[in-house]
Amino acid sequence: MEPHTVAAPSEGGDRRPSEAPPSVDALARSVADVGLPHPLLVQAARAAVTAGDPASARDRAEAARARLQRPVVNATGVLLHTNLGRAPVTWAQGARAVNVELDLGSGRRGRRGETATAALRALTGAEDAVVVNNGAAAVLLALAALAAGRPVIVSRGELVEIGGGFRIPEVLASSGARLVEVGTTNRTRRSDYEDAVAAVAAAGGLTPVILKVHQSNYRVVGFTSSVPVGELAGLGVPVVADIGSGLLDAAAPWVRGGPPGWLAGEPAARQTLRHGAALVTFSGDKLLGGPQAGVVAGRADLVAACARHPLARALRPGAMVLGALQQVLLAYARGDGDAVPLWRMASAGEDGLRARSAAVAAVVPGAKVVPCRSVVGGGALPGVEIPSAGVAVPGDVAASLRRHEPPVVATVRAGSTVCDLRTVDPADDVVVARALSAALGA
Ligand SMILES: *Cc1c(COP(=O)(O)O)cnc(C)c1O
Repeated sequence: MEPHTVAAPSEGGDRRPSEAPPSVDALARSVADVGLPHPLLVQAARAAVTAGDPASARDRAEAARARLQRPVVNATGVLLHTNLGRAPVTWAQGARAVNVELDLGSGRRGRRGETATAALRALTGAEDAVVVNNGAAAVLLALAALAAGRPVIVSRGELVEIGGGFRIPEVLASSGARLVEVGTTNRTRRSDYEDAVAAVAAAGGLTPVILKVHQSNYRVVGFTSSVPVGELAGLGVPVVADIGSGLLDAAAPWVRGGPPGWLAGEPAARQTLRHGAALVTFSGDKLLGGPQAGVVAGRADLVAACARHPLARALRPGAMVLGALQQVLLAYARGDGDAVPLWRMASAGEDGLRARSAAVAAVVPGAKVVPCRSVVGGGALPGVEIPSAGVAVPGDVAASLRRHEPPVVATVRAGSTVCDLRTVDPADDVVVARALSAALGA
């Protein structure tokens, strides 16, 4: 509706345009038991009337209620399912003010996210860190603060799209940096970077920045070469490494028994900084297992430049995100990976998953235990499969599982509906069993 439209006189001269004509209003009232606030029922009723099918108002209202954001059981086997909010986090807080920017010691204004950044320093060896709303924002802020008006040297093999339209060349352009491409799609050598740095110097340009982007969501295999951060750091210009997933330390000391094999090769913040990156950027809700957030960590002067940049204000997270992030980072600082739901899912043993699956299958008529292959998801570790176990029932009952309360999200393969239990909290096994039984009409 146009902002200044006035309602037709037949609807009552002084009605505001958002008010419903009486018939729509009455229709909305007739489905009040669906339990949505009246203006949302009016939307459903109006859509039903517009479609020439007023009787569909109830179905439309119920569909709107089913779309409400709420907790669901992720039985897809995708650990970081972007459509399901990536890493599951526990977070609850009463209606109280929060010392998000107040130093309770001095009573003065403090630094936002202080504990989170202190923990990030301890966990990654960074001199300092700043937290923003997501990994994409971290890359944008780092480039805007360090490289606006400067050349940024990037390998042609790393000019990637991360997903959701986040394309490195476009982010670079919007940060005000100038892209200097080096190498080829499959091979980039150290000399390619050296030549580019020398060319910028010969032209009397500002010191360039080298951007290294992790190939998070794709693999280039075969006749390939790329230059590790450790070699780039020797070229005398700052290296910004977008590592993506937020693995804090390749040694994963928080996982009992050491890092799982499938983690091998994933870049980690601590090692990337130790190899000489000036800054690393990463996501809070990928392998960090926290809420949606992004981190820029590294040299104190460069982090300070990021924090001072006007974009930092636009990209800063609120107290809820910082609280949830602090909780996850303190668990890492205690070395307690079991307190991070992502690592509980990631390190669950196959035997235990099979036993849980058998217990679920035992109470669901027609269900059987099946081997599964979980994936990390969230645009991380493509091609990596983690052996798992789950429960399968014949036929496609995925839609009725989604209608269960709480909804269960499963996958359908080869004519069966499969619930991979690796991504299900053991406390929710009973929910999966109930939802499957209900879906099968048992
Ligand atoms: C995922 C990813 C991003 C974006 O992080 P979000 O938290 O999803 O915004 C940026 N760079 C790389 C390399 C990534 O893998």
